[in-house]
Amino acid sequence: MSALIEVLKNYYAGRLVEVDSKESHPVYNPAFGKVIAHAPETPKEQVDEAIENAKKAQEEWAAIPVTERIKRLFVLERLLREKADELARVITIEHGKTFEEAKGEVVRAYENVEASCAAVYHMMGKNNLEISRGIDEELYRVPVGVFAVISPFNFPLMVPFWFLPYAVALGNSVVVKPSEKTPLSMNFVTKLFDEAGFPPGVISVINGAAKTVDAILENKLVAGVSFVGSTPVAEYVYKKGCANHKRVQAGASAKNFEVVMPDADLSLAIPSLISSFFGNAGERCLAGSVLVTFPENHDEVLKRFTEAAKKLRLGYGLEPDVDMGPLIRREHLERVRSYVELGVSEGAKLVLDGRNAKVERYQNGFFMGPTIFDQVEPDMRIAKEEIFGPVASVITCKNLEHAIEVINSSRYGNASTIFTTSGSAARKFVKSVQAGNIGVNVGVAAPIAFYPFAGLKDSFFGDLHAQGGDDMIYFFTERKVVISRW
Ligand code: NAD
Repeated sequence: MSALIEVLKNYYAGRLVEVDSKESHPVYNPAFGKVIAHAPETPKEQVDEAIENAKKAQEEWAAIPVTERIKRLFVLERLLREKADELARVITIEHGKTFEEAKGEVVRAYENVEASCAAVYHMMGKNNLEISRGIDEELYRVPVGVFAVISPFNFPLMVPFWFLPYAVALGNSVVVKPSEKTPLSMNFVTKLFDEAGFPPGVISVINGAAKTVDAILENKLVAGVSFVGSTPVAEYVYKKGCANHKRVQAGASAKNFEVVMPDADLSLAIPSLISSFFGNAGERCLAGSVLVTFPENHDEVLKRFTEAAKKLRLGYGLEPDVDMGPLIRREHLERVRSYVELGVSEGAKLVLDGRNAKVERYQNGFFMGPTIFDQVEPDMRIAKEEIFGPVASVITCKNLEHAIEVINSSRYGNASTIFTTSGSAARKFVKSVQAGNIGVNVGVAAPIAFYPFAGLKDSFFGDLHAQGGDDMIYFFTERKVVISRW
């Protein structure tokens, strides 16, 4: 490890704390292929110290009226807006997505802070006078304790903000463990937590990977865990968290289908599809992965989709006119490339091959160009497994019923989209498709902050989903019922 490269510190008790660890993970600028920082693995004793501190802070925080708690969130929201460009730069540097994509991520983050400011209403309970003779009954919502947020590499700022603002607005404290691959943006915002006036310990950020997660899951003071990442890890965290008596919500992997009906308006559909399949270099849990066409429109859809994909410009996301950045790591690039080899060996027709894409100025970057397979069959692995890169598989179905059958055979149920001008086709799709986030003429079916992020099947473990709406209120509060006779 070079002495010149920063080793990140943890943030708890309102200050930056050096991590006493020999183990760390390199953080790259993936466009340059260069290590820019190290995220230490936090030893168990230090994880416990941070959580004990968060527990003490939570007890005092919960005693502060909700009307006062949300004042800090109003300030945080303003600071995130003011720092949006600076933050977006950090996201691009550590993740590789374009500056515009990164700015979109910052917007999604502060929209969740806005939504959490309705906590006064969220905390309201219920009551009945004279529920029985001489008896009144009331329900109060109360804070729970310490929550942990464990997030993936692909939305380093937005995903923690799916949970953090609601948890603290509702009177809890929160310990965030960002992805060790992209920890810089959450480390950056720790300054803003101080500036917004959160008391020390209400929000903490600790670095690390699997071992740090285990220490969190084993700590008895953690009441609940909000996890987002791949399905095997989500399942592991869900099981271990529940076994340790925690409430757990765990968003997981995806394989999303985008259906283009023969009556679809292609001038609307094609740009939406391009953004869905290749935005964020395909490293999005809502990314289109399988494109469903029909015999009547297959040739035209494939031609226009391929032509548009060929025009995408690869490069470093902080430079102008770049449409697509690199993948997160060289190993991931190799994994995505191996899926392309697999598709060829499975008999799919490779019509656009992005494996050898190069960006002149960034020869060491982890770049891969848009890649399109045609003649994909539903039982091929490239049609079933999450690739998490800019690879589209085109399947041709007989009709809408057939398309729905293929979609519903997937183990995943994160998102599905239909492009159509027919209300009845759209209605049938919405009713029948087993996906939690459904797009109708919308390529990336991303719910806004006030709605839950509603993955199904192996794309989610738990019952209460991320983001606003009732799910967050139930996840981050307990109910107390008082039965009184006077
Ligand atoms: P990942 O599962 O590798 O890592 C997620 C988190 O778990 C990280 O913080 C990581 O440090 C930790 N972790 C990794 N291995 C672990 C282990 N063995 N034990 C305990 N903790 C461990 O996921 P990723 O590669 O960072 O993110 C990409 C995945 O996340 C994709 O599958 C994508 O579909 C999914 N994702 C899902 C959603 C959603 O809402 N459903 C949103 C974004 C990303």
